[in-house]
Amino acid sequence: MAIEQTLVIIKPDGVKRGLIGQVITRYEQKGFHIIAGKLMMAERETIEEHYIEHKGKPFYEDLVNYFLEGVIFVMVVEGENAIELVRRIHGNKDPKEALPGTIRGDFSNSTTRNIVHASDCKDSVKREIEIWFPQLEYIYKK
Ligand code: ADP
Ligand code: MG
Repeated sequence: MAIEQTLVIIKPDGVKRGLIGQVITRYEQKGFHIIAGKLMMAERETIEEHYIEHKGKPFYEDLVNYFLEGVIFVMVVEGENAIELVRRIHGNKDPKEALPGTIRGDFSNSTTRNIVHASDCKDSVKREIEIWFPQLEYIYKK
């Protein structure tokens, strides 16, 4: 079993609604550790780079603008199989599919405003840590 890192973002609605503590608690109670974290206002260019795979899709502009609405909390979460398990903790992006007990299932009824982001594979982790924590490039190499 591999110890992995994954890049997680609490999106503006999560921060605004005061859910940082409840979100982080779910990773910690699962046995994961927060090994980097910062509260910040993102630049448009950074968000566009982060969501480059969705550029051109119908929801892309709304998505980028949504990220500019307020402060976000960006972090690196570490633990065994963190990439897959953190996404399970988050639940499906479709509110009709997000099960109770997941963060999205419990806190969101919207496909856009869905509280959290997490990397979806090892390559995304590397790419996203480089975007949000360029000074911490060593994290995923250890
Ligand atoms: P995930 O966040 O689960 O990895 P995606 O990578 O497919 O999901 O989408 C990135 C984000 O874009 C979603 O979390 C959501 O905020 C937004 N999004 C995705 N699909 C839609 C959609 N059909 N309508 C509105 N917003 C969407
Ligand atoms: Mg995604």
